[in-house]
Parts: sequence; structure tokens; C-alpha cells
Amino acid sequence: AKNAGRNGYAFFTPAMFEAAKTQALLHQEMHFAVSQNQLELHYQPIKRLTDNCIVQLEALVRWNHPERGLVRPDLFIPLAEKTGMIREIGQWVRQEALAMIGRMQQQGLSVPIAVNVSTAEFYDHSLADKIIAQVEESGVARGSLLVEITESLLIRNQQETCAFLDKLQQAGIRVALDDFGTGFSSLSYLAAFPADKLKIDRSFVHQMTANRRKESLVDTIITLGHSLNMSVIAEGVETEEEEALLRSKNCDNVQGFLLAKPLPEADLIEFLRSYKPD
Ligand code: C2E
Ligand code: CA
Ligand code: CA
Ligand code: CA
Repeated sequence: AKNAGRNGYAFFTPAMFEAAKTQALLHQEMHFAVSQNQLELHYQPIKRLTDNCIVQLEALVRWNHPERGLVRPDLFIPLAEKTGMIREIGQWVRQEALAMIGRMQQQGLSVPIAVNVSTAEFYDHSLADKIIAQVEESGVARGSLLVEITESLLIRNQQETCAFLDKLQQAGIRVALDDFGTGFSSLSYLAAFPADKLKIDRSFVHQMTANRRKESLVDTIITLGHSLNMSVIAEGVETEEEEALLRSKNCDNVQGFLLAKPLPEADLIEFLRSYKPD
């Protein structure tokens, strides 16, 4: 962003310069982070409500910064989206998740992993082909990787999103609509997009037991998902009451702190080994 100065020169204000410097610095730092293995994935289990089995994991990235410690994704993902670093990060996340699927399989654990794909990665039109190639190269079964995209993508890039989803599905890679309910997508869009799963945003699940309006929205989303043949995952389930209510509404899966927080690999393996559906 440049301003035309008083005498016609374009100039950066000190604040603009600082902002640009910080972004460039962060871009460099992030690039370094990927190459130096400072990123790590944590995995949050998702269970099926009918039998309490763990049916899926969501991979969530963390930046293990040498000075700042474990940096949360909502602090660096938006920046990575601005600088374009998100593509390198997305590539790394998928690579690592696929490797994790392989490591789990060697230990007799076969749980599919969902990875988040950012709207900003969509500027790469060959993204679907790249994801499919990554799965092929890894040698794991195609059904073992899932992709989560946000609803906002549907609204902004309809045609591309459709093509993207079609390609993935033809390759046997399932897709979930993330943060559902926050993006105001119209029902007609939804009917046109071939997604397999729908994730109800945490903001609706949170306090749904005390808020009738939230509860009826959750009801509606579950019915909507099922009527479109999608399985429905409730995010951010923190209490027994919420889980019981969701079960009574035939919600398919739950994810949230009640079951487990996102866990580093070793803890996750330990969790899966000792987990008993009851
Ligand atoms: P998300 O995709 O909606 O991921 C779910 C977030 O909710 C995670 O936050 C998870 O830790 C949190 N969560 C799960 N259960 C509960 C609960 O019961 N209570 C509460 N309060 N929170 C819960 P996290 O790991 O901090 O990730 C935040 C966001 O960062 C993600 O939201 C996603 O949009 C983004 N993100 C994370 N990893 C990646 C990635 O690899 N790629 C991209 N593009 N984005 C990512
Ligand atoms: Ca997600
Ligand atoms: Ca979500
Ligand atoms: Ca979210």
C-alpha cells in the first residue's frame, strides 16, 4: 500500500514499513520453520455416537517456535494466508498426516485423518491434483485422508470448488464442510456441492443445552445434513449434557475436549491404545 506524497513521491509511512518488515520477517521465519521441522501436528480424535468408536482424527498444526514456544494456528495461519506461505504449510501438513497414517498402520491402527485446507490455497488451481499425487506417493489407502474446507469457499469460488470436490471424490478422498453455519451459504449452493461430511461449528454447540435457539439451529443443521446424505460431526463438545443431547438428535460424530484435546503423536497413540468404547 503506497500513498502519493505531497510532492508526488510515493512513500511508505514508518508504520507501513514496520508492518511490511514484520510480514517479510514472519514469512522468512515461517519458511525457515517448515524447513527446520519446527511445525508439528497434533491430532484430535472424533468418535461415533452410536458405538463410541474412534472413527477419525483431525490434524491440527502447531508451530514450535524456538523463542515463542508453541504458537497456536489462529495466530500464524492468517499471516501464512496473506504471505502465501500457506501453500508450503498445507503441503507439509498433508505430507506429515500421510506419514502418520502409515506409522499408525504399522502399529495396527487404522484411523483416517482429516486435514484442513485453507481458502488461500485455492489460488493454486492444481491443488486437487497435488493432493491426489501426495496420497498416491504415500502409498496409503485413498480413503484414509480427508479434507476439510470452510463454507466460505463455497460462496466465493463456486465453480472451482465444485471442480475441486469432484476431482477429490473421484479419487476416493472424502471432503468435510468445516465450521458449518458460520458462512451463511445458501441451501442451493449446498445441494450442488458433493461433500460427504458436515461439521457443526463450535459456536452453535457451545451452550446449546442452555440456549433453545442454539439447540434448534443444531437440530436443523443435523436434519439438513442427513437430508443431503452427509454425515454430521459436532465440534467443540465439552460436556456430557451436550453429548447426550447430540446423541438424542442422531448426530453422527462428536469432537471436543470432553473426548480429548488435540494430542501430540505419542499421546494420541497412547490414547488410542487404551481407549475403550463403552
Ligand atoms: P478448526 O479447523 O475449526 O479446528 C478446531 C479447533 O477447535 C482447534 O483449534 C481445536 O483445538 C479446537 N477445539 C476442539 N475441541 C474443542 C472444544 O471442546 N472446546 C474448544 N474451546 N475448542 C476446541 P486449533 O487447533 O487452535 O485450530 C484453530 C484453527 O486453525 C482451526 O480451526 C483451523 O481453522 C486452523 N488450522 C489448524 N490447523 C490447520 C492446518 O493444518 N491448516 C490450515 N489451513 N488451518 C489450520
Ligand atoms: Ca477443521
Ligand atoms: Ca471447525
Ligand atoms: Ca474454526
